[in-house]
Amino acid sequence: MPVMAAIKFPVSLTDADFEEILSRPSARYGVLGTLMAGLVERRFSSLELSRFFLDRISRFNPQLNCFISITADFALQQARAADQSLADGRAGELTGIPYAHKDIFCTRHVLTSCASKSLHNFCSPYDAMVSTRLQQAGMVMLGKTNMDEFAMGSSSENSHYGAVKNPWRLDRVAGGSSGGSAAAVAAALAPCATGTDTGGSIRQPAAFCGLTGIKPSYGRVSRYGMAAYASSLDQAGVLAAGAYDCALLLKQIAGFDDRDSTSADRPVPDYPGLINQPVSSLRIGVPTAYLDDRLDAEVRDAFDRALAQFRDMGLQTEEIKLPHLAYSIPAYYVIAMAEASSNLSRYDGVHYGYRCHKPKDLNDLYCRSRSESLGDEVKRRIMLGTYVLSAGYQDAYYLKAQRVRRRIHHDFQAAFKQVDLIAGPVSPTPAFRLGEKSDPLTMYLSDVYTTAVNLAGLPALALPVGFSGTGLPIGVQLIGRHFDEDKILALGHAYQQCSDWHGRRPDGFGQ
Ligand code: GLN
Repeated sequence: MPVMAAIKFPVSLTDADFEEILSRPSARYGVLGTLMAGLVERRFSSLELSRFFLDRISRFNPQLNCFISITADFALQQARAADQSLADGRAGELTGIPYAHKDIFCTRHVLTSCASKSLHNFCSPYDAMVSTRLQQAGMVMLGKTNMDEFAMGSSSENSHYGAVKNPWRLDRVAGGSSGGSAAAVAAALAPCATGTDTGGSIRQPAAFCGLTGIKPSYGRVSRYGMAAYASSLDQAGVLAAGAYDCALLLKQIAGFDDRDSTSADRPVPDYPGLINQPVSSLRIGVPTAYLDDRLDAEVRDAFDRALAQFRDMGLQTEEIKLPHLAYSIPAYYVIAMAEASSNLSRYDGVHYGYRCHKPKDLNDLYCRSRSESLGDEVKRRIMLGTYVLSAGYQDAYYLKAQRVRRRIHHDFQAAFKQVDLIAGPVSPTPAFRLGEKSDPLTMYLSDVYTTAVNLAGLPALALPVGFSGTGLPIGVQLIGRHFDEDKILALGHAYQQCSDWHGRRPDGFGQ
């Protein structure tokens, strides 16, 4: 068996070489496909590739604050193992490709903080299913990314580790809750990243940072080892430059897992293999009534131009009605908070993480451990969630929200009899200013276009379709029928063959 020393790399690549690869990825095979080809052809090693990104992290993370942990030694160890697999001919598609991992996925021996003081010292004894699958692929984890505490937020400002900044403009939020993952990929501190989406947390940061991100159907990816926020809505997914990259990664993390009782027991399609399926016969539904004056004019323009582009590609667009969509924010926040209040009861100072100093008695231990370690937004949600579940109010709030959820689900079912996909904006505005939405309700309302998808458990792909006058990216989302990830990815990819929004990168990060 060949040993490491036997691996020869014809040229030792410089930063400029990698910059070239990242800024001009192959249109068909994306950034990851280009890097995979480079590894297989031995133009560079996984060690070189990983060092390149680790170096960028050390240079630019102080400005962006997108990583909570940087796992350099672990990364180099994984990269050496990947190079060995490549040399032995044992490598899989993604072997040796680095990634950034949202700090909500459990990772053995590495801090999993969920951006909370309550887990500031928590090292999980086991790996999340998503972590295991990426490791099995031979991918290289560069670090764990910053986020809103327990994924509660839309801006990545609710973090014990400080707010994440948007690489396109440092006075703007990166979106949330997977803002660290989005900022890291946008600034090329990692070629791809994981995220989770309970009410928009992959799609909205992807849109704010000019990336492509997929929220798969509920049940498509195992939630095992992914810290729970709202279990009936949470779903893991990925963020990367383009749809092809997302397809490669989704294929790796999707699939049945008997340790998650809501995991879907159905085969995983070959998403990259299906990406060139014909899309011109697909019918796209547009919920026109919903695109009212809450939607920023530039976002509306970019959305209309994307629809025109889809029509140029031969697709039909038609108006659809989703009558209960207007109630998705109240229904989502009641359900999400109810589930959060239950899920977060485990952070009690006994089972995990932070414990207060010198408690007087058991009650004091519980009360102070929680009040000293959870952030304001998390506490707000626990209290509201407990309230909507309380005996006197359950019918009025929680059960009513569940009924609204069912109607939203039926609205989508009815629409999908008429059309194959639904297109809509991701966020009413481009990335807002850090500190701009200090009132919680204003922040919640920014999720107006994303939460219905989670209530109905549908897959959705966010992709960049333009920029605002001030240079901020704008995204749209393509929503598919349950388990139609292959179709939304194929349409996203086809669109990206005739546009280059997803290939643009922010200035100021070393190119
Ligand atoms: N912004 C939404 C919330 O705060 C969604 C967050 C998410 O998807 N994790 O709940």
